[in-house]
Amino acid sequence: MSESPLIARRQKALSPSYRLFYDDPVHLVRGQGVWLFDAAGNRFLDCYNNVASVGHCHPHIVAALARQAGLLNTHTRYLDATVIEYSERLAAKLPGQLSVCLFVCTGSEANDLAMRIARAASGHEGAIVVEAAYHGNSSLVRELSPGSYGAAERPGWLAVIEPPNLYRGPFRTDDPGAAGKYAALIDDAIKGLEERGHRPAAFLVDSIFDSNGLLVAPKEYFPAVYAKVRAAGGLIIADEVQAGFCRTGESWWGFEMFGLMPDIVTLGKPMGAGHPLAAVVTTPAIAEAFAETTDYFNTFGGNPVSAAVGMAVLEVLEAENILENTRQVGGYLGAALGELAARHEIIGDLRGIGLFYGLELVHGRDTRDPAPEAARRLANLMRREGVLLGHTGRFGNVLKIRPPLVFSRDNADQLVETLDRALAALEGTDGTRREG
Ligand code: PMP
Repeated sequence: MSESPLIARRQKALSPSYRLFYDDPVHLVRGQGVWLFDAAGNRFLDCYNNVASVGHCHPHIVAALARQAGLLNTHTRYLDATVIEYSERLAAKLPGQLSVCLFVCTGSEANDLAMRIARAASGHEGAIVVEAAYHGNSSLVRELSPGSYGAAERPGWLAVIEPPNLYRGPFRTDDPGAAGKYAALIDDAIKGLEERGHRPAAFLVDSIFDSNGLLVAPKEYFPAVYAKVRAAGGLIIADEVQAGFCRTGESWWGFEMFGLMPDIVTLGKPMGAGHPLAAVVTTPAIAEAFAETTDYFNTFGGNPVSAAVGMAVLEVLEAENILENTRQVGGYLGAALGELAARHEIIGDLRGIGLFYGLELVHGRDTRDPAPEAARRLANLMRREGVLLGHTGRFGNVLKIRPPLVFSRDNADQLVETLDRALAALEGTDGTRREG
């Protein structure tokens, strides 16, 4: 690790719970578009940050923020046209009855509130999530995030199922019935809850399974799962913190890829382009059922400055036709990564959609033995070459590529060429060797 005096100050000033990326942490001082700049003036290609998904420091968003910050910033206990207009414009982007907004400041808060709403509307307590899911950091949402703590600590009201991982899960690509078998796991989950005295209030799911190293579910999976949960009286909460706002290049929202309509949607990260803006969006009937049980107030959630920022993000997504860019550049990047995967033995699986790719690194294509140390070393090698990406997944062995959606073909070329060299360097230093 570098001897930067800033690191020493940080270690004193900030809680040790915080973690820095990379062996040699990056001290960023400026961002523009897909580029990040460090204190020494070095330029990095950002292939990781989905928050600034319309590009770092987009001038239209900066101007909207400054304009509203200079005018008024209050909260939702006063009448304010900005937050109403933003809600209307956001709802217009969502299908069907998903038209009522509750604003919060983080994805964690959104999922926390969504779960409370699901409990109030269903009258049930239970929840179903997938293994290794991450939905946030409040006490309730941490419990809904089995990736964050040990299986022995799981509360009785929680059921955890295997996600549809066709590469590594119990049912794989060679099984034509895999989608149905994964969906049927919901039946066991509901039965398990029942045995513990609970019924499901909700199935909370990230439509692209980010924390599982990105999974693209077979198309029969979600329709079957939605139907089973609803038949048991539960609601569907689509966690769109990762998949929302055009990330998949297929549709504005992840769940739309499957032609489905959840009951509650949670939004965050790219929604405010770095400004703390997140939301729960649901149907009038479900919002009403929640309102009958309680008032809701959030000091910062729904303030006019956040609303102005959110509106500016929607405007940029539209004006720059970001969905189409994501589809086109994503397809181009996917093809190039496919060629790379064919040439480098360590890449066991390539998964992706839009501008989100996961490269699963393994010690042998037949054993599929996870190679987390190789993923970690690769991320560090890439950082040294001026390309920022990360790694994730249940075993930490999935290289995560999730750039801002204004990524270009040139950016994709730079990423793939650098990755090709880094993989060769890793192989040259025996980076594929089994870890201890
Ligand atoms: N849901 C998903 C799918 C996420 O990836 C995250 C953050 N990584 C969250 C929720 C929590 O969001 P936040 O960090 O804004 O609380």
